[in-house]
Amino acid sequence: MTPHAPVLPLPSWLAPQLPRLQQATHAAVMLSGPAGVGQLTLAYHLAAAWLCEAPTAQGMCGQCPSCGNLHAQTHPDLCLLLPETVAAATGLMLAPRAQAALEGKDTKPSQWIRVDAALEAVEFAQRTRSRQQGRVVVVYPAERLNTESANTLLKTLEEPPPHLRFVLATEQAAAVLPTVRSRCQLQAVHWPPAPEVLDWLAQQHPKASAADCQACLQLAGGLPEKALALLGAGLTQSECQTLPSLLAKGQGGALARLSGPDLIEMLQKVAHDALATVHGAAPRFFVQAQWPHPMQPMALQQWASQLNDDRRHAAHPFQASLMLDAHVAMAQRALHARRQA
Ligand SMILES: [Zn+2]
Repeated sequence: MTPHAPVLPLPSWLAPQLPRLQQATHAAVMLSGPAGVGQLTLAYHLAAAWLCEAPTAQGMCGQCPSCGNLHAQTHPDLCLLLPETVAAATGLMLAPRAQAALEGKDTKPSQWIRVDAALEAVEFAQRTRSRQQGRVVVVYPAERLNTESANTLLKTLEEPPPHLRFVLATEQAAAVLPTVRSRCQLQAVHWPPAPEVLDWLAQQHPKASAADCQACLQLAGGLPEKALALLGAGLTQSECQTLPSLLAKGQGGALARLSGPDLIEMLQKVAHDALATVHGAAPRFFVQAQWPHPMQPMALQQWASQLNDDRRHAAHPFQASLMLDAHVAMAQRALHARRQA
């Protein structure tokens, strides 16, 4: 039989964490770690292993009917409770009504887990299982359950029917509503070693050079999924090196390929490293970049706090090009503050 490949392949640094999690006995497990480590992938594979008819210590077998259903995204005993933005970005299918709502609407997909979807998950939980292995609800990111969605889910989370288990995953455990967090067994997702991540990045992007992979991983603060997104945006090592000096000249360079929140996050990293450099500390993200000289700490500090404010609004549907122009102008002022006087 042809093995059924999982929809989200399990990267090598997550694989060693799976056997321990498969042994968890609590009905609700919460995987916690920084954004970009791979919580959703690990949560999905944990659910797959629990649902599999012949699981091994390494997780799902990839051969049984359950694994086949997972591969086809038609598993009757799995419910993915995700924001619409996550479903759209990963290609994972939501529960039937939530999926139909996502495909049928012409408004922007929601970044929050909708209360209707939470309600559908509760209905799923109350149905009887169709196979021996029980049923699983995957919730990600758990911090995107608003109060109403969380309240809808709470009773089922507290007293799940027999054979129902929850895997929640979060990138900000502190931001998960305490009523939800307190009902889960917390499990840390471990930080991946850089050499393994570099190998993985090279496999995902065979055309990127080793130097590009290294630069994107550095820029991503060591987080694999973020590094992959930067490589996917076509960022190269030389662009990473030249970005600060281009910004000082009022040129956006590679920033034009980043969307709202990613654009601001990148500028926050430039501001962070500019401040580090001006105070004589080592830069963290743009390690080989040339910095404008001299830079003014006060102007950089103001820029950094303005970016912090803007980060909160960055997901709103701004006109992308206007936003880019405004931000590049702001970066230029901060990096070349002396010329304003
Ligand atoms: Zn299987």
